[in-house]
Amino acid sequence: MEKLRKRCAKVSKMTIYYAGDSHYEVRKKRGSYTLVLNKETCDCKVWEMSQIPCVHGCAAIQLDHGKVECMVIIAMKSMVKSILRDDILYSR
Ligand SMILES: [Zn+2]
Repeated sequence: MEKLRKRCAKVSKMTIYYAGDSHYEVRKKRGSYTLVLNKETCDCKVWEMSQIPCVHGCAAIQLDHGKVECMVIIAMKSMVKSILRDDILYSR
């Protein structure tokens, strides 16, 4: 959660545009990134690799509903369910 707090702290230095259909463009001083909130993907690829929203994802989530921690907890629960399901399916 510490990583998440650091990422969220950087959000104020960004400009976020909603492009419709869960797509956002996040602009920083050194470029812009496009992300799809409902697919949890971003041009920077950090979200996909770490399973924790990247700084751009944090910006979009805060704009969308303001609760980044809730989204991470939901994602973690989903991962745990998936691991448990795989464990049950493949351990027989
Ligand atoms: Zn990103």
